Amino acid sequence: MCFVDSSTADSVDMSGVVMSTYKCNACDNKFKGMGSKLSCPTCQSTDLKKLD
Ligand SMILES: [Zn+2]
Repeated sequence: MCFVDSSTADSVDMSGVVMSTYKCNACDNKFKGMGSKLSCPTCQSTDLKKLD
């Protein structure tokens, strides 16, 4: 995570947004998401593990 240098900011405003990496326990898919109500984009399982 390195969002310190704002001079290189592109069109994406990451301020206040925390993206976390999750792993699906059902299909081992890894994906990034945020919020508390997440589901696997591949199999829609909600059995997820937060990796950080
Ligand atoms: Zn899955």
